[in-house]
Amino acid sequence: NPVVAVVGRPNVGKSTLVNRIIGRRQAVVQDTPGVTRDRVPYDAEWLGRQFTVVDTGGWEPDAKDRAAAIAAQAEAAIATADVVLFVVDAVVGSTNVDEAAVKMLRRSHKPVILVANKVDNQNLEVEATSLWSLGLGQPYPVSALHGRGSGELLDALLDAMPSAPRVVEETERGPRRVALVGRPNVGKSSLLNRLAKEERAVVDSVAGTTVDPVDSLVELGGEVWQFVDTAGLRKRVGQASGTEYYASLRTNAALEAAEVAVVLLDASEVISEQDQRILSMVVESGRAVVIAFNKWDLVDADRRHYLDKEIERELRRIPWAVRVNISAKSGRAVDKLAPAIRTALESWELRVPTGHLNQWLTALTQATPHPVRGGRAPRILFATQPGVSPPRFVLFTTGPLDAGYQRFVERKLREEFGFEGSPIEIAVKPRK
Ligand code: GDP
Repeated sequence: NPVVAVVGRPNVGKSTLVNRIIGRRQAVVQDTPGVTRDRVPYDAEWLGRQFTVVDTGGWEPDAKDRAAAIAAQAEAAIATADVVLFVVDAVVGSTNVDEAAVKMLRRSHKPVILVANKVDNQNLEVEATSLWSLGLGQPYPVSALHGRGSGELLDALLDAMPSAPRVVEETERGPRRVALVGRPNVGKSSLLNRLAKEERAVVDSVAGTTVDPVDSLVELGGEVWQFVDTAGLRKRVGQASGTEYYASLRTNAALEAAEVAVVLLDASEVISEQDQRILSMVVESGRAVVIAFNKWDLVDADRRHYLDKEIERELRRIPWAVRVNISAKSGRAVDKLAPAIRTALESWELRVPTGHLNQWLTALTQATPHPVRGGRAPRILFATQPGVSPPRFVLFTTGPLDAGYQRFVERKLREEFGFEGSPIEIAVKPRK
């Protein structure tokens, strides 16, 4: 989501404005001069567009070094924002603290919207007009307390934001797309045949969807799934599958077209280099992942013992994959596939509310702060989740994080929110 920072002197009405924007009465904090409030992010929406509002503490206008005090309070918020709402008290008019802030806002090169607050009635609009003198363009007269002018302000805010991402029409989405991948002879054809036979329903056409002729529609667990690029698998079992080069092109094409990968491994044999290459392709693709150990009917107690060790060693890169043990031949546990795929897709599309994310992060970083590097420990200021499929997170920080600490945050993020069956991406944005 785009990030909007709300900055301004104490008592100009920043918190009231934030509450007005997020549309609820939450955490109205009185600005107390001299008291620094943490930057607090909130989810907000206007005309269907979602964004994150970051409320910042007021800065101390009477600090000895005024310019430095302003910088310390608001700079981080401004550096990480896409748009800045600069709030001025229209009744008081612009002060030299406001003017110092304007200089800093200019240097940031961020889009700034000038909010003339406390314009509770029409007579006060003339006061707002005088704020043109700040040189930030048109002042938007609002009454954060009563809501006056907030619609116009939010319209201007949307205009200033980076353009919206393409909206996916959920309702018109066809069947979920599954790539069934694995090296030759792991049992892909057998499984597809089994799924088609067991359910007696390889559907040839589903109303309202166009399905590529190389795909198969399979009903499984009460839902129709589109197994992509399966033309080559509808062949008779045991037929040659072509060279490895073409096999890997196919795998990549299938992953590209799919949302979730079902990776078939042969449980009766050691995990091979070829299996690893396919697993790499799957990880690279960013798709949701189910690993199905096939030929489970051939696994005895002895093999099972070795397999556990192998899994630990060979699947180290994707410990988060959903795993099922099946037999395409006997039909064992094949009904576990649909719930496994659903779990993986749910994780793949999971969105953590910004408030919850940051509450958790604050507790985590307080309990286990980043180790000190060169006399300083970088701090994570706040986090947002700008996207899903797979879930992507951005950590706004005071400096680069150690790779180890970043892995720690990812591990804890998974512990807290799940994400079973889905990769997650974490980007770190140190403030400049
Ligand atoms: P593909 O190349 O991945 O499509 O693999 P196939 O479906 O052609 O299967 C390769 C061989 O493994 C065939 O001889 C199958 O009968 C056998 N096979 C597939 N699944 C199983 C299983 O669950 N158990 C056993 N024992 N054999 C299987």
